[in-house]
Amino acid sequence: MNYRHAFHAGNFADVLKHTVLFALIEALKAKPAPFCVVDTHAGSGCYALDSAQADKTGEYKDGIARLLFPDMHGDGNAPALPPLLRRWLDSILDLPGNEDGLKLYPGSPLQAAAAMREGDSAQLCELHPEEATLLRELFRHDARVHVHERDGYEALKSFVPPREKRGLVLIDPPFEAQEDEYRTIEQTLKQALVRWPGGIYAVWYPIKRRSQVQPFHRWLQHCGARRVLRAELLVWPDDSPLRLNGSGMVIVNAPWKLDEALREPLKALGRLLSQDRPADARLDWLVEETG
Ligand code: SAM
Repeated sequence: MNYRHAFHAGNFADVLKHTVLFALIEALKAKPAPFCVVDTHAGSGCYALDSAQADKTGEYKDGIARLLFPDMHGDGNAPALPPLLRRWLDSILDLPGNEDGLKLYPGSPLQAAAAMREGDSAQLCELHPEEATLLRELFRHDARVHVHERDGYEALKSFVPPREKRGLVLIDPPFEAQEDEYRTIEQTLKQALVRWPGGIYAVWYPIKRRSQVQPFHRWLQHCGARRVLRAELLVWPDDSPLRLNGSGMVIVNAPWKLDEALREPLKALGRLLSQDRPADARLDWLVEETG
């Protein structure tokens, strides 16, 4: 367990992941009934962008910072952010600590908690003791949020279905196990879908080489899951050696009209996060309604 998200917080992959998370929570909030967010790999919850780790990689500069200064690489005529992306960015800038500009980048647990309502709840798993301690400290005054220092894959079965019977599971592992990570995700999803077939499951994955992720997509197409939406953003060609060329999210049981909600934001991210060629933004259904 060498991975520390502090080195990567706010990078282009986080921007995609957290935009999708925000859209999912907005969709859940369309109904008044409470919901639960389960985050199997939560991280420490909040990251200082002036920390030694963030500073070492500077990854957020080609991620979240590009949304703050959309004209930096353009001609001064950058179009306004699509409304969903604007709301997401504002939700980050509104967090305590960001009054004087973007200093803190919230991880998925803090973004979820900021968007949740009084009656909603969150179950957060983080296996690394130091990260789990920081996470527990962050939410010590928030009774809606429950932190568990345990293996999120193994714990998921005890959290689904949640008491609320509505909600989403975010699976965002560090992929230290490389391609084996997908097999663990598949097993975990398979079990969870038996226990809670109607839950929304959002899985983040890195794209280094396209061939590494294809078996996972094929598995999703044949596992009986319904409404599986795929959102991807590639900032480099998907065969450039030895680097994170892009990332993706698959959403099982995607809420109604999630594709419409994400279409313009994803296009805008493609424009804003491009490197030396236009980024490739993809949004399509791996499995439609009928499965
Ligand atoms: N979801 C977070 C976010 O979006 O802000 C980032 C999570 S980071 C990519 C992955 C985290 O999973 C790391 O903090 C790592 O310590 C933790 N981790 C690794 N294996 C785990 C496991 N089996 N169960 C729970 N957490 C794990």
